[in-house]
Amino acid sequence: MKITLIAGARPNFIKIAPIIRAIERAQRDGYSIDYRLVHTGQHYDDKLSKIFFEQLQIPEAHINLGAGSGTQAEQTARIMIEFEKDLLANPTDLVIVVGDVTSTMACTIVAKKLNTKVAHVEGGIRSFDISMPEEINRLVTDSLADYFFTTSQVANENLKKAGVNDEQIFFVGNTMIDTLLTHLPRTQKPVLWEELGLQSKNYFVLTLHRPSNVDDPEKFARWMQVLDTTGLPIVFPVHPRTLKNFSRLAQKPKNIRACDPLSYLEFIYLIKESKAVITDSGGVQEETTVLGVPCLTLRNNTERPETVAEGTNEMIGDDFVALSSALAKVKSGDWKAGKIPQLWDGRTAERIVHELLKLGAQ
Ligand code: UDP
Repeated sequence: MKITLIAGARPNFIKIAPIIRAIERAQRDGYSIDYRLVHTGQHYDDKLSKIFFEQLQIPEAHINLGAGSGTQAEQTARIMIEFEKDLLANPTDLVIVVGDVTSTMACTIVAKKLNTKVAHVEGGIRSFDISMPEEINRLVTDSLADYFFTTSQVANENLKKAGVNDEQIFFVGNTMIDTLLTHLPRTQKPVLWEELGLQSKNYFVLTLHRPSNVDDPEKFARWMQVLDTTGLPIVFPVHPRTLKNFSRLAQKPKNIRACDPLSYLEFIYLIKESKAVITDSGGVQEETTVLGVPCLTLRNNTERPETVAEGTNEMIGDDFVALSSALAKVKSGDWKAGKIPQLWDGRTAERIVHELLKLGAQ
C-alpha cells in the first residue's frame, strides 16, 4: 500500500511523527506499506518546523511545496497548485491528512478531485464556531474524506450526525499523545529556566495565537493587563502571528516573560513543571489533560470537550473577571485532578497502521 502523508504546520509535525514510526515498524515486520512525506511549507520558520523534525526524529520530507505565508486564500491556493503537481507525478493509494490547518483542507480537496482516497487523522472534532478558520478546514475536510481516525466518542457522534457510516470511522485515540508519552522521558529544561529563576509549580505558561485573541490590539492588551496581575512569572513563548501586537503593547507587562517559540522537548518540560497553563491552543488543551496540569482556555468553545468533561481544562471565554478568579483558584491549589480520556494511551499510531493494513488488503 502506498500512502502520501501531509504535514504543513507545527501541530501536524507532532501528529505525524508516531505514524511514520509505526509505518516503518510495519515495514520491518515485512508488511507491504510505503509512504511519501509531503511538507507543504505552510510553517517554514526553523522554530516551528526544522527543530520538530530533529527532536521528533521525523525523516526529511520527500518534497517541500514551499507554500510560505500569506492570506488564508493565498496559502490555500499555493498549496493546492503545488500538491496537485506532486500528486499527479506520484500517484498513491491513500492521502493521509492530520489536524485542522490550511494544508489539511487544501490537500484533501486536491486529492479528492484526483479521485484519490483520503483519511483524516483527528476527524470529526468540532467547535461549532464558524468564525474559526480551523472549523472551516475541519468541515471541508470531513465532508470529503473517506476514512476517519478519531480521538473521542464525541468526534464519532459528530461524524455520524453528518451522515458518515460506521465503517468509515476508526476510533483509535490521539497521535499527539503518542508523541507526548514517547518523548516525556527526554524533555529538556529550557535555557531560559535559570535566566528567569523559575521554580517548579511556581510559574504559569501562556500561549496565544488564535485570531479571536490576538488580532484585536485592545482585547489582546486587556488579556495582558489581567495576566500581569497574577503575582507569579508567566512564561510566554510568542507565536509569530502574535508578535506584532505583542511588540506594539503601550504598557509592557512586568510579570510576563516573552520568548521565542520553544522546541517541543523544552515546551513540554515547561508545561509539565508549571502551576497552570493559559492557552487558546488545541493541542495544549490535550497535553495538559494528560500531564494533569490545570489548563485555562481563553476561548468560548472547544472542539476537544473531553478535556473539560474529563480532564483538567476549563473554558474562560472572553471573560476577564473569570480569568482572574480561575487564576486565584489555581493559586489556592483548588483545581480538578481530571483523568485521561479513552485510548489516549500512546498506542494510537499502531492502531492506525493496523487499520491501514486491513484497508490495503481489501
Ligand atoms: N508547542 C511547542 N512550543 C511552543 C508552543 C507550543 O512545541 O512554544 C507545541 C505544543 O506542545 C503542542 C503544539 O505545539 O503540541 C500546539 O501547536 P499550536 O498551539 O500552534 O497549534 P494548535 O494545537 O492550536 O492547532
